[in-house]
Amino acid sequence: MKKQLKTIAASVSALCIAASLCTSLTASAITLYPKTVMTKSSYMWNSCRNETIKLEYCTSKSDYQDYLYEPGRNIRTVSTSSAPGHTVNVNYNDILGAYTGSYEYWQASQCGLYNVEKAYDFYSSIGYTPTGLYVAINDHSTYVPGGNGGQRENAWALGDTLFFGLGSSDQSQEDAVKFLGSATDVVTHEYGHLVTQATFGWNDYSQLSPEAAALSEAYSDIFAELADEKNDWKVGATVFTKNGVSKPAGYYSYRDIANPANTHNPKTPNTTYYTNYSLWNAAVNANPYASDLDTSGSTIISHVAYTMAQSSYFVNNKQLLAKIWLRSLSKYNVADTTQITFRDCRYAFLDAAYEVLSEEGIPYYQSQALHLITAFNGANVF
Ligand SMILES: [Zn+2]
Repeated sequence: MKKQLKTIAASVSALCIAASLCTSLTASAITLYPKTVMTKSSYMWNSCRNETIKLEYCTSKSDYQDYLYEPGRNIRTVSTSSAPGHTVNVNYNDILGAYTGSYEYWQASQCGLYNVEKAYDFYSSIGYTPTGLYVAINDHSTYVPGGNGGQRENAWALGDTLFFGLGSSDQSQEDAVKFLGSATDVVTHEYGHLVTQATFGWNDYSQLSPEAAALSEAYSDIFAELADEKNDWKVGATVFTKNGVSKPAGYYSYRDIANPANTHNPKTPNTTYYTNYSLWNAAVNANPYASDLDTSGSTIISHVAYTMAQSSYFVNNKQLLAKIWLRSLSKYNVADTTQITFRDCRYAFLDAAYEVLSEEGIPYYQSQALHLITAFNGANVF
């Protein structure tokens, strides 16, 4: 969920394109189709299957294109072939599944849009003001039956667009995944990248230091699991086809934050440094260009958040903890956000904790503060 982001991040500067496109989607330019209510559709994936889905279709009179659109939050589906330039070319017939071969796309459009709505509401609830979004799902024209491609098996975030692959064409393979947008934690993770990009002003991931890149991954995972109703602290476990079949349940996940060494990804055999800043630093110094430093380092900080979440103070109030982590993004007292460190994170978080708890009228008792500090200490982040 990160590699793709790196390779195309240079084009993040195209972010402002959205402004011109949004102006073409003013109310006068849109004709809304009647609201469609789909209840417990058997065609939906996993988390979407038992939900009542309310979607609206719209079309722009300016270009006569049709979208699967949620007007309240200004979120609409586009195809990956159109992003990030946002020349939307999703065909209404595709959305309705009228074309042979696009049925999968139709399901993904609904399910992905629905989960992005949930993520949007989560970030709103903890104090972030989302803007209009695009949900990009693999264009069915790029679909190759029987084949597997990186784009189908990846998810990433860029500017104002969340990208979700349709999943592996060959579901029998060892690492097969289903539609990436079907998992609410994956969707919340990718949305988190948009939040950190916007807050830190990042427009090129290649400029990030290993620690900054790891923090980017950590924040996304922290938000994903603090929003996750399951409280399993495994990111993306539901999208892996073979999860629990040939390996212990949860083995196949993008990250196991409670027990980072148990996860399928990151795959580095040396697992000792996943929760230990000192050991990870030694590994970084030995090979600063290793490809997995963002993921292997991310669990140091996300595991800190996991530890906090287990305390009696936050165990029944994950939303409060999420508010603090979100607030911490604005508490980095650094000139260059591409070089932020775990130590910066510690102090930003503790500043944010004091501020958020004060605002919420919650006394910042020494024991509670000590618990937060202890969590960072436990990872050797001083
Ligand atoms: Zn990520």
